[in-house]
Amino acid sequence: MSEHNNYRLDTKMIHAGVEPDPNTGAIMTPIYQTSTYVQSAPGHHKGYEYSRTHNPTRTALQNAIAAIENGKYGICFGSGIAATDAAIKLLQPGDEVIVSNDLYGGTYRLMTKVFANYGIKFHFIAMQNAADIEQHITAATKMIWIETPTNPLLNVIDIAACAAISKKHNLLLVCDNTFASPYLQTPLDLGADIVLHSATKYLGGHSDVVHGVLVVKEESLDERLRFIQNSCGAVPGPQDCWLVLRGIKTLHVRMQRHCENGEAIARHLRNHPKVDKVLWTGFEDHPNHEVAKKQMRGFGGMISFTLKDDNIEAAMQVLSKTKLFSLAESLGGVESLIGHPASMTHASIPREERIKNGLVDSLIRLSVGIEAVEDLIADLDQAIG
Ligand SMILES: *Cc1c(COP(=O)(O)O)cnc(C)c1O
Repeated sequence: MSEHNNYRLDTKMIHAGVEPDPNTGAIMTPIYQTSTYVQSAPGHHKGYEYSRTHNPTRTALQNAIAAIENGKYGICFGSGIAATDAAIKLLQPGDEVIVSNDLYGGTYRLMTKVFANYGIKFHFIAMQNAADIEQHITAATKMIWIETPTNPLLNVIDIAACAAISKKHNLLLVCDNTFASPYLQTPLDLGADIVLHSATKYLGGHSDVVHGVLVVKEESLDERLRFIQNSCGAVPGPQDCWLVLRGIKTLHVRMQRHCENGEAIARHLRNHPKVDKVLWTGFEDHPNHEVAKKQMRGFGGMISFTLKDDNIEAAMQVLSKTKLFSLAESLGGVESLIGHPASMTHASIPREERIKNGLVDSLIRLSVGIEAVEDLIADLDQAIG
């Protein structure tokens, strides 16, 4: 495993963590569909006792993800939210967390509707200027939680600047890297302590599995998180681990095409007479483009845009007319998806609040897939009219 960590990212995607099966030489890690392992005498085993604690398919995936995030330890979960839940369980009642305010809805719900009841306090603030974080730090603050780029407004947060503040105050910095994927951004290199993924999205990449991951560099953090993984039990099954392991093998080629298609569509939409604003981190006039350029290796396939005719009905017209872009939640798969955050993922946020933050009625979010870009552009053009 360790020698794989010296290879370039594209090589690690395919080889890291994976060894030929010791029993058969199978080049693909088998799906070890077993709950338990036979011991020759009590306590005498080959490192595997029970599959909540360890499973060989999961081990291969955990090592693969650790390598591609430039971390040391990967810890896998049954969903992105289960990974989020485990990271928050590092805290205790009375602890405070500073969180970026443009956040995945399920993370916001878990924090405000579940963990707030256990005495953990969350402060949601704008972080486009990372220096703004410091004034919210108190003696009880233990963690900074960021997501970048954000959903659906594609704001960019300066990870290295957050890490500097976090280190100065001895806090943990958690970075949800779902939107960028390790192909575009590796937050541990920039000083984050914990990287989180909904592997349901780009890592899996084929819209066929729900899965979550944490990656860390520090052994003590790994021990605490692995204790939570085993004690709370939100572990993924071996088949789901195998699907993510297979997904990762093509992450780099998929992401390359997501980026190319994303750029072509963002630039096309920007010149469309019925489109008002296009939000994409690659535009030179994106408010934090310099930060994006500094910390990302490309700009990805997530794009949001608004219509000059800014109302829900106009957006619904577009959504109802696309043929290649499927109307669905989620993102990061090979197929293109279209969504309307105001009525779908972000419907629970009061309208005034949402509009104040820039999430207007006509905002449409695209997860640009890896189809032929000419077909995708033609589909959007006929739908926008
Ligand atoms: C989807 C998503 C999650 C939650 O992951 P699940 O796999 O759906 O549980 C967390 N963060 C972001 C940014 C996401 O897009």
